[in-house]
Amino acid sequence: MELILDDAITVTMAAGAGPGSMLVRDGRIAAVGPAGQIRAAASRAAMVARLGGATVIPGLIDAHCHVSDVGYLAAGADCSQPSAPGIPAIQARLREAAGRTPEGSWVTGSGYVEYKLRENRHPTRADLDEAVPDRPAVLYHTSLHACVLNTAALREAGFEDGQPDPPGGALGRDREGRLDGVVFEGPMFALFERNLRHDLTRMDAAGRARLVENAGRYFAALGVTAACDADMRRDTLTAFAEADEAGALRQRIYGLVVHDQVDWLAASGLRGRRSDRLAAEAVKIWSDGGMSSRTAAIHGTYPVPPYGSGILFFARDELTAMVRDLDSQGFQVCIHAQGDRAIETVLDAYGAVLAGSPGNPRRHRIEHGGAMYPLLIARAAELGIVVASQPGFFSTLGDGFAEAFPGRSDQLYPFASWLRAGIVTAGSSDAPVITADPLLGIRDAVLRRTGEGRVLGPGERLAARDALALYTHGAAFAMHREDEIGSLEPGKLADFVVLDGNPLDADPEKVADIRVLATVVGGTPVYQSGDILPAG
Ligand SMILES: [Zn+2]
Repeated sequence: MELILDDAITVTMAAGAGPGSMLVRDGRIAAVGPAGQIRAAASRAAMVARLGGATVIPGLIDAHCHVSDVGYLAAGADCSQPSAPGIPAIQARLREAAGRTPEGSWVTGSGYVEYKLRENRHPTRADLDEAVPDRPAVLYHTSLHACVLNTAALREAGFEDGQPDPPGGALGRDREGRLDGVVFEGPMFALFERNLRHDLTRMDAAGRARLVENAGRYFAALGVTAACDADMRRDTLTAFAEADEAGALRQRIYGLVVHDQVDWLAASGLRGRRSDRLAAEAVKIWSDGGMSSRTAAIHGTYPVPPYGSGILFFARDELTAMVRDLDSQGFQVCIHAQGDRAIETVLDAYGAVLAGSPGNPRRHRIEHGGAMYPLLIARAAELGIVVASQPGFFSTLGDGFAEAFPGRSDQLYPFASWLRAGIVTAGSSDAPVITADPLLGIRDAVLRRTGEGRVLGPGERLAARDALALYTHGAAFAMHREDEIGSLEPGKLADFVVLDGNPLDADPEKVADIRVLATVVGGTPVYQSGDILPAG
């Protein structure tokens, strides 16, 4: 099987490889170069795809997202804007979802943003009760930091009018003080986790396959060819393994398995590189809370509710012991750390464990790295820590950061400083927290502009090529696959994306509007918006 990509702008992201045509043979890149040379290298039987000046870039890699959560939510009602412009549309979709939701599961919708709704407010329990009166229903905010419950769900979750706010969160109330159904932060996370695990456990093999398929379709349409699932557990890794067995994985999936499931992983036989498409060789630990919930562990206190210093989940010695144990078992360790106090603790742990093995051979990572201030950057660079971070937070959550970190918001997610310090940074989305669209992430890494239009840290803006490198080489390195993916070079796997514009040349404002024409994994199209390539 040979395919020549002709008449394209090829962005190889490889040193020394010039633009030109590309020859794909048996799922790998056979050659990149001038058209004549490529023709000569191909056999007579090679198919030719004329791309009409479209741009070919390496497959985009999302180094930190929640693939299974995306698939899970996709099975419920799509309540995002603009497709559901107001509350009546949301009600109609929940009603419809109720018809296909198995008994015992909550009717689920997701994706709304209250200020994009015609009504310019959160839907309430009463709105949900009108759509789903007789069984629990939940509507998740797109940020996954809030949700709305109907009366039956409030009852099942154990929330009552007149109760105080649960720790780490808040319950919305109407003028009479009755619960209006909106749940914020801590209790919302607990609900999501509970519902996801509950529904996954009850899912049959067909349901699990559908979940993986939904996620795969979503990521493929965005040009994503590989992704790290940052919250892999027994049930989800099992679902991915089943899909892999059936040849149904559209992306190359790398699992960050939650630390309390490592013993299970060792016994399951699923550890390591299972196939070309599935590997689980990393372990995920959370060291602190979140930025948009103001629970990231910082020095000092937040000037905004809940006015604390954030939550640190492990003391230094405890975290060090965990990292040491995992490192000695050969795992790559990936620690969620957002606040400076958490990052400091994580670097202490990594420093202690890496003292004997300079250069960080297992590529231990910091996930997010929000408030990584200059001294911490220097320490991370010296240890060789890899950072997986999310530029797309700027346009979606950036205004909240500016409020929570007055005076220091310019130093958050310091992409240019990381680059200058020699830290390998991997681009990612944290979807479904925000969209998984890597082009939006690239735009935000270049612009660092919030939804309201402030630029956070103009000195930390990246050039377009460096922004694209986050989602290609950087992310490939973070999952130990830079020798196979992340650039278009002979011998590498034929993972690439065909775009209708070149993100390196485009007006930065318009990068997120570039359309994905085709997404190809191992030489086979996993998404096409037209028929620019011969079907796999
Ligand atoms: Zn995450």
